[in-house]
Amino acid sequence: MSSDVDAIVVGAGPNGLVAANVLADAGWSVEVLEAQREPGGAVRSGELTLPGFIHDRFSSFYPLGLASPAMQAMDLEDHGVRWRKAEVPVAHPAADGTVAYVAADVEETAASLESFAPGDGDGWRGLYGLWERMGDELLDALFTPFPPVRAAARLARALGPRGLLEFSRFGVLPVRRLGEEWFSGDGGPRLIAGNALHADFSPEQPGGGVYGWVLVGMAQQLGFPVPEGGSGQLTAALVRRLEGRGGTITCGARVADVLVSRGRAAGVRTDDGRELRAARAVLADVSAPALYLNMLDRRHVPDRVLGAMRRFEFGNSTFKVDWALGGPVPWLAEDTARAGTVHIGDDVDALTRASTQLVLREVPAAPFLVCGQYARTDPTRQPPGKETFWSYTHVPQKVAGDAGPDGLTGRWDEREREALADRIAEQIERVAPGFTGRVLARAITAPADFEAQDENLAGGALNGGTAQLHQQLVFRPIPGLGRSETPVPGLYLASASAHPGGGVHGVCGMNAARAALRERGPARRVTGRVTAAVAGRHF
Ligand SMILES: Cc1cc2nc3c(=O)[nH]c(=O)nc-3n(C[C@H](O)[C@H](O)[C@H](O)COP(=O)(O)OP(=O)(O)OC[C@H]3O[C@@H](n4cnc5c(N)ncnc54)[C@H](O)[C@@H]3O)c2cc1C
Repeated sequence: MSSDVDAIVVGAGPNGLVAANVLADAGWSVEVLEAQREPGGAVRSGELTLPGFIHDRFSSFYPLGLASPAMQAMDLEDHGVRWRKAEVPVAHPAADGTVAYVAADVEETAASLESFAPGDGDGWRGLYGLWERMGDELLDALFTPFPPVRAAARLARALGPRGLLEFSRFGVLPVRRLGEEWFSGDGGPRLIAGNALHADFSPEQPGGGVYGWVLVGMAQQLGFPVPEGGSGQLTAALVRRLEGRGGTITCGARVADVLVSRGRAAGVRTDDGRELRAARAVLADVSAPALYLNMLDRRHVPDRVLGAMRRFEFGNSTFKVDWALGGPVPWLAEDTARAGTVHIGDDVDALTRASTQLVLREVPAAPFLVCGQYARTDPTRQPPGKETFWSYTHVPQKVAGDAGPDGLTGRWDEREREALADRIAEQIERVAPGFTGRVLARAITAPADFEAQDENLAGGALNGGTAQLHQQLVFRPIPGLGRSETPVPGLYLASASAHPGGGVHGVCGMNAARAALRERGPARRVTGRVTAAVAGRHF
């Protein structure tokens, strides 16, 4: 660890790494301190089951990475990322042998939905047409700090007064209602609802519709890309870029406290008692409650913020299984084999049932699954002819009971882990008979395992706080703190707990870095690289 840098970034998740890169681009000296033994946060991959099978240990698909200005500014391709896209970004099969899917071609997507009910192809053309008109403006508005005045004005101009009113209504629709309004068959509704349930929405909650629509819109427009070789390649590119600009990352350095001197953030203290000074700023890629309740002395946190942080909602936990398979998944519906992301849950009612059991703090009897498969998209991730496959589902943070037959209590000991992993495999069997016969090995990640590998994944929650309306936009992380700035000058919240929330887009990090740059000005000294260039020109 060096001393007296311009900025310290706490946490080397994607947001921390983007923040550090933006500061380094401006000529600041930056040190990133990471608690784990390797950087990346929830963007890491490796062999979990058998040699030669590379598993994404957390996040997997990166449409947000392609769409976000923060990631675009990182020039990831120049630093080694090679994107690969599945023919079919996302598919939602059911046990009756049907599959609804988004294909690379809009007309194929429309045909897939038309097969469920006449007219549903037009339903898709209409919904995707709306995305083509509004998607860029909407993402612009989401990807700028609050209040997004200019982006919102552009959105309003594009829509006109009546359109704005209609779009506002669209924005609060539960995903079930959105499906009913745009489709008459089962395919369209379940396709969009499955995407909404990536976050902790149920089909009945306001705002879930637009969340699902944004994801399917991006699936159609950009695909759900993956970095060749595993998600860790994305982290490796961000690290290479940062180090090329003189930034440093120290792993195995957990920050316990943010130091405040004369009312400003002045540095940090690590778990083992070392103190490091930051001349200009401290940026925290940690959860909002961790920052305000654990890392700051109470004297520096207003009572109102302390109270709101105690009410902060992380959202459901996550339970994930990774498999090494001896061959491709034997899907009932053939087109499912072309997909990168697969959702499993027969229809919107099944998703509501699973979500309601979660609300009742029960482990769902028939869990809704988000799955990933790679062999057809990225052959570097498994030996020839084999398949790397994963599936995650949500479970309650505090389990009150089991809606299934196994008496799960949320202890997640060996018996409970194996029982839920078997239940998940049974769900896959329903849409891919013979799946379990292809399993060579499996690895289970239960809620506490997630947190042990990345403390931002508190209790196994994956978005740095619920994505539901009451904790999004101007309410994120809490009402009145909707920007990266904190009540302590020089300290910025850079994690997914800040607006715009979860996902690998780096915008929370970029917003925090820009706020620091706005407040503390441009470079104090130029980096080695820039110095050399200037020297070459003048001498
Ligand atoms: C199972 C799973 C699947 C997901 N799937 C997707 C997906 O497909 N696509 C997508 O876009 N998003 C996905 N996400 C969400 C996405 O990964 C996160 O929203 C994103 O990683 C948040 O980035 P971050 O930098 O804010 O935090 P994180 O990625 O959580 O990184 C935070 C880092 O800070 C470190 N840290 C925390 N506290 C300290 C401390 N006190 N001192 C030092 N270091 C500290 C942690 O160790 C960690 O490395 C998924 C998440 C999970 C868990």
